[in-house]
Parts: sequence; C-alpha cells; structure tokens
Amino acid sequence: DFRFSTQISHLALDIGGTLIKLVYFSANGDHCEESRDGSIFVCSGCSVLQGRLCFAKFETRKIDDCLEFIRFNILQQHSSVQHPNGTARDKLSIKATGGGAFKFADLFNEKFGILFDKEDEMHCLVGGANYLLKTVPREAFTYLDGQKEFVQIDHNDLYPYLLVNIGSGVSMIKVDGDGKYERISGTSLGGGTFLGLGKLLTKCKSFDELLELSHHGNNRVIDMLVGDIYGGTDYSKIGLSSTAIASSFGKAISDGKELEDYQPEDVARSLLRMISNNIGQIAYLNALRFGLKSIFFGGFFIRGHEYTMDTISVAVHFWSRGEAKAMFLTHEGFLGALGAFASYKD
Ligand code: ADP
Repeated sequence: DFRFSTQISHLALDIGGTLIKLVYFSANGDHCEESRDGSIFVCSGCSVLQGRLCFAKFETRKIDDCLEFIRFNILQQHSSVQHPNGTARDKLSIKATGGGAFKFADLFNEKFGILFDKEDEMHCLVGGANYLLKTVPREAFTYLDGQKEFVQIDHNDLYPYLLVNIGSGVSMIKVDGDGKYERISGTSLGGGTFLGLGKLLTKCKSFDELLELSHHGNNRVIDMLVGDIYGGTDYSKIGLSSTAIASSFGKAISDGKELEDYQPEDVARSLLRMISNNIGQIAYLNALRFGLKSIFFGGFFIRGHEYTMDTISVAVHFWSRGEAKAMFLTHEGFLGALGAFASYKD
C-alpha cells in the first residue's frame, strides 16, 4: 500500500529503461515515509518553502506499482473539473522525460487521462544537474580511500564540466552552461549490463542483492592481475603494480573451472569493478579530449555505493595522474526527473 496522507502537486516523471523516477512537491511533506523495500520505492524529502520535494522510484517492468502510487496519491487529490456539458473530465498534464515518456504515453492517457508534456531527456539531465550544483549545498562530493568529502561549488567556475550519467546505458555530456551542452560520448556497458550480466552469472534476483553480494567478494579470484602474469612482481617500468587488473575475468580461461566453481560474490565484485573501471576510464578520456577538469557522475547505477565510487575515483585518478577529479551527486538518480520538474517554471 503506497498511500500517503499527503497533498501532492507538481509531479514530474523520468521513465528510463530500468527505473521510473518521480519527483513531486508535497505540501504536507511531514508524512513522507521511507520505504521498507528500497528496491521498489524510496522517498526522501528535501525541505522547500511550505512543503517538501519528494523522490520516489519504481522498476519500469513493475510500472503497475507506479500507476497505483499515482492513482492513490495524485489522482485522488486532483479535483476533477467538469466541462460545461458535464461529461468529460479535464485531462491532467504532467512533465515527463526519458524513453518511457514516449513508450508509455498511451498507457497513462488511456488509464488515467494523464497527458505527458514531454521534455527532452538530455536537456532534463543537464537542467537537473545544474539546478542541484547551483542551489543545493552539500550536493557534490568526492569519494576516495573510504573518505567522503563535500565539494564547495564555485558558481563562477562551474562550467565547463563533464556529466556522466550511468543509467541502463551511459551518457557523457559536456556542459557549458544552462541549456548549453553537447552529448559527446557514451557507452552501452552501463548499469543495465551490470544488472543483466550479474543476474545471469550469479542468479541474483535484484540489483540490491547483487550489490550486497559484491560487497563480500574478492575480484582477484577471477580477474587476471599483472602479478599473475609477471609471477607476483610489479611491471614498474610502465607503472603497473602487481595488483592492477590486466584482464577482467581473465583467470576464468586458464583455470578450467566452470561458473559453479566460483563464488557468486567474487563474480559480482569482478563485474562491478569491470563496469565501474571502464566507465571511469572512458569518462577520463573524454574529459581529456575537451580539457575538462571536473567530472560529475550521476545515475542510479552508483546508488551511493562505496566500492563503485571508489573504483570510478581510482580509475579517473589513475588515468589522469591525479589531474582530474571524480565527483558524485547526492541526488544521483534523479537528475532527469528534477530537470523535468524544474521545467514547470519555464
Ligand atoms: P534508466 O533511466 O536507464 O532506468 P537509472 O539512472 O534509473 O537509468 O539507472 C538504472 C540502473 O541503476 C540499473 O541498470 C541498475 O544498474 C541500477 N539500479 C539501482 N537501483 C536499482 C533497482 N532498485 N532496480 C534495478 N536497477 C537498479
């Protein structure tokens, strides 16, 4: 039962390949609740004038849960306005972005008479990131060697920066200002790859389960390290330590072992490291390509997970020889939804 005793207005949706993100203003936000099951729904509030900005997410494949939430929370609050002839009910128009704004437009219209006022996905991502970086204190932080440090954003020196959004896939966007941006790169090896491959390889049922599993694993069991090739010593001449990964999953070829012979937690760890490392490296190369010093990482793949952030940070630090900085965002997964929400005032 997703019902809240709150009055909700101004709802924006970001319907992605894996998750649906909702941002809404609740005038009576004191009743916002944390969900017991974070994999289905979370709601945390940010105080704003006379209410709260609330955030929720649902799995796209469980869109019915999302529809239920909207039915209870939005439609029951939305007073139906009758047309002069007394028959038709006014349609409710809400801001929507992401691929699902196209894919599910008919469903929302047919089911609830909700019309999507569609906003461009990249535009919303950038709008959300700029809004957060400029207005929310303690939004951006670095994470290295287990240390989280908030970054003071200098508004006069924010642009240009690289925004790396790690959702199902990955988009890399050079941001030059409000509404000024270019999608310069991306990779299909993203959060969807981690979750999809992880499910196949470990039999995990959910992202949270896979992430938890990776927490307890050791990637060295399955990754081929420089030391494995060099008999335990560093390849110092080119700056590779013996513990550097030479080949992700590389040990699996020589062992003659089957998948069942590996612990699922080691497989999950190796996979998380492989995906995070790769994104960190591609991000750095793109930052180098355009001379960008700041790289902000968003998207729900990160989920504030220490090991993920550490791996990305190390990759950026390693490849840039300490020149570039990886930064993360507190509202990581809600950039697009926030951007759509912010477009109400446009
Ligand atoms: P998209 O807009 O493509 O759905 P998101 O930014 O919402 O992208 O991120 C989706 C990714 O986040 C998934 O591919 C997965 O790696 C990760 N993720 C985090 N939490 C969950 C969850 N509860 N269920 C499924 N995937 C999750």
